[in-house]
Amino acid sequence: MPSLKRKLTMKSTKKAPKEIATEDPDVVIDHDKSKVECLCPKCGKKHIMNFHWIGRGTPRKYCQSCRDSI
Ligand SMILES: [Zn+2]
Repeated sequence: MPSLKRKLTMKSTKKAPKEIATEDPDVVIDHDKSKVECLCPKCGKKHIMNFHWIGRGTPRKYCQSCRDSI
């Protein structure tokens, strides 16, 4: 009797790719943050912050020193 070599065809681990649909089409993720000049409403100091700003004018953000004191 010829000895047949059995191939391992049993798939022990089935890969079931679960689709994680968390991407909301309405939510825009800020991928490219840019340096924006901000004006601190507390001390009136101009400072540079890294975030995505699409608005007009100067955004009013607390500077680092004022944010620490809050
Ligand atoms: Zn400030």
